[in-house]
Amino acid sequence: MPLRRLFDYLAPPGAVAGELSRGMRIRVPFGRRRLVGILIEVAERSSIPPAKLKPALEIIDREPVFDERLLEFLLWAADYYHHPLGEVLATALPVALREGAAARGIDERWQLTRTGRDEAAGIPGGRAPRQRALVERLAQSAASPTELESLGPRWRETLRHVVARGWVESIEAPLSIATLSAGIVTPGPNLTDAQAGVLRALTAASGKFAVSLLHGVTGSGKTEVYLRVAEELLHANQQTLVLVPEIALTPQLVGRFSERFTTSLAIIHSSLSEGERLAAWRRARSGEAGIVIGTRSAVFTPLARPGVIIVDEEHDGSYKQQEGFRYSARDLAIVRAQRFGVPVILGSATPSLESLENARAGRYSRLLLPERPGAARHPRVAIVDLRHHVAHEGLATPTVDSITRHLQAGGQVLVYLNRRGYAPTLFCPGCAWLAPCQACDARLTVHLRSQRLRCHHCGAQEAMPLACPQCGHEVKPVGQGTERVEDLLRDRYPEVQMARLDRDSVRRKGDLQSILSRVASGEARILVGTQMLTKGHHFPDVTLVVIVNADQGLFSADFRASERLAQTIVQVAGRAGRASRPGEVLVQTEFPEHPLLKSLLTSGYDGFAAAALEERAQAEWPPFSRLALLRADARDAQAPFEFLDAAREAGNLSQHGAVQLFGPVAASMARRAGRHHAQLLAQSRSRAALHRFLARWVTALEAIKPRQGLHWSLDVDPQDLM
Ligand code: ADP
Ligand code: ZN
Ligand code: ZN
Repeated sequence: MPLRRLFDYLAPPGAVAGELSRGMRIRVPFGRRRLVGILIEVAERSSIPPAKLKPALEIIDREPVFDERLLEFLLWAADYYHHPLGEVLATALPVALREGAAARGIDERWQLTRTGRDEAAGIPGGRAPRQRALVERLAQSAASPTELESLGPRWRETLRHVVARGWVESIEAPLSIATLSAGIVTPGPNLTDAQAGVLRALTAASGKFAVSLLHGVTGSGKTEVYLRVAEELLHANQQTLVLVPEIALTPQLVGRFSERFTTSLAIIHSSLSEGERLAAWRRARSGEAGIVIGTRSAVFTPLARPGVIIVDEEHDGSYKQQEGFRYSARDLAIVRAQRFGVPVILGSATPSLESLENARAGRYSRLLLPERPGAARHPRVAIVDLRHHVAHEGLATPTVDSITRHLQAGGQVLVYLNRRGYAPTLFCPGCAWLAPCQACDARLTVHLRSQRLRCHHCGAQEAMPLACPQCGHEVKPVGQGTERVEDLLRDRYPEVQMARLDRDSVRRKGDLQSILSRVASGEARILVGTQMLTKGHHFPDVTLVVIVNADQGLFSADFRASERLAQTIVQVAGRAGRASRPGEVLVQTEFPEHPLLKSLLTSGYDGFAAAALEERAQAEWPPFSRLALLRADARDAQAPFEFLDAAREAGNLSQHGAVQLFGPVAASMARRAGRHHAQLLAQSRSRAALHRFLARWVTALEAIKPRQGLHWSLDVDPQDLM
């Protein structure tokens, strides 16, 4: 339940002392419902009068789903993010387990209890035929879930009934400790000297907690290092947990692990079915899976013998959950590693400023892979000044000339822009009408392929109007999206095959694979795409990368915008010249003098990072201060401000100067999907002071009676201040 409190129950009938331990699931009555709960503490007394205490219904697990260390880690996380414990624990469990499925797979068997044997004969045949069939089956012999499936699709439910009546119980064979076979299918390449040096440092750090920041340019061989680390740990019979930003977008990484090792891999991500997810969780917990690869929530996976946690692309924003329990999987990976006494490796070509600062301060050790293996060279980066060259449909003449040259030389070309659809606005030259979203403070994006206008913020869509609804004048799309750039290039190079990579072009399963393989095979020679291009793909024959517009991130109100822009430019640029052909990168901008772009182009990501960290220190932004953002939204425009004003007042009472409050202010897009958003920022130079404040503040916030329909949430270490 999204409530910041625990609930007391009596032990379930028939439970014996010692049978109950922390971290087990128990079924409990809750209002009129029966819910799955996690046992947090076994106590001798309760503040609730005994007459009012209800007994729990049954113990679901024989042994805790969260062992003591994992539970302590989750309690810590709930505390740190000031989030209701129930939701934190639910986030950490596969859905099937939240709903009461067995935590054990293969070993699980069910048998009749003595009461079951005695009373089974008394089940009325007509009224509960399924229960009767189940009991009769178990009267012959104990049975596994697979054997019980012959009783029909609802056997689990029936089983719960008879378990609740005390007639059937589960028996579990003791966990067999699987030995991890480190069988290597294909041997890896000989490591370069730099890789070997990094591996030596990582090996020296194994067996205890330490954070290593592996900073290696794109294509420098970081993944190869991960593979070697995993291999060493398999030999030591220990598991490797690899976190990745988005599995669907990075099939290569999973592919490289599965090609290298015969050991069982557990892959955990959001598009698994519940059954698959549960199976992967079980194999990780039993120790059967030597390597566990997963997205954000995989940081909570139980591991029998953890050896290392690797966070690939540690700077990636998708490690932060943006709703509900707003945790950072990167940050929690570090805390988990610390509590479990294992090393953690943060890998990136463009480390976050936080991690770079931690390395500079000596809290992390920084390991460098400055070169690409073999003949691959860094690309040459040049600016195309949009003030001097008119851009036709987004591409300036020198850019088009370069594309022509690279195509003629047999290279592939990658064109990046951060907007899907045809054009970001539909405009009427007659009356200056701009197609608005009815529910948001935003314009609708033109999608020409589907002839629709879509809101990228709330998902609303409508048919594309032929004429202006206000004055009847002919309307026209303004600005560039990926569809439009694709059309332009198709007109220009009719004989060249093209591909487009954005959320719209990969809607169906298999789309992504087919686009990637058309590019990899060389069939498609131009690839136009969004942010999705930055996600670790290997395109060895790409020799030119075009960044259509670098300007969006330069003047944003969000202090992280410039960091994200620099990361994107460097990541996209890193797709060029990965094999033996030299690469070239063109960055189109109207602001070639902008200090950020200049530092990035003259001294690379390191130069940018140093300048940006300097700016953050001056302005006291993270990592030089700690933030928490209180957000509120409601249908009514005033309600969020009323709540936040009250929150501010409550905050003023309980803080002692170490924490500053800024706001409330409207969110940068105040109205989204018909709700008005506002926020209040808490900032402190001291993490401890901020958290002492937040603990008191949250209690005060819960006491505020908000207007009906108002939602609020607290975001600790927010990634996005907009
Ligand atoms: P990153 O993870 O840093 O992007 P990868 O590990 O994917 O880098 O390596 C980039 C490319 O170089 C891959 O094709 C990989 O197989 C190859 N590679 C990595 N290490 C070596 C090596 N020591 N010798 C030869 N090729 C290597
Ligand atoms: Zn008009
Ligand atoms: Zn909208």
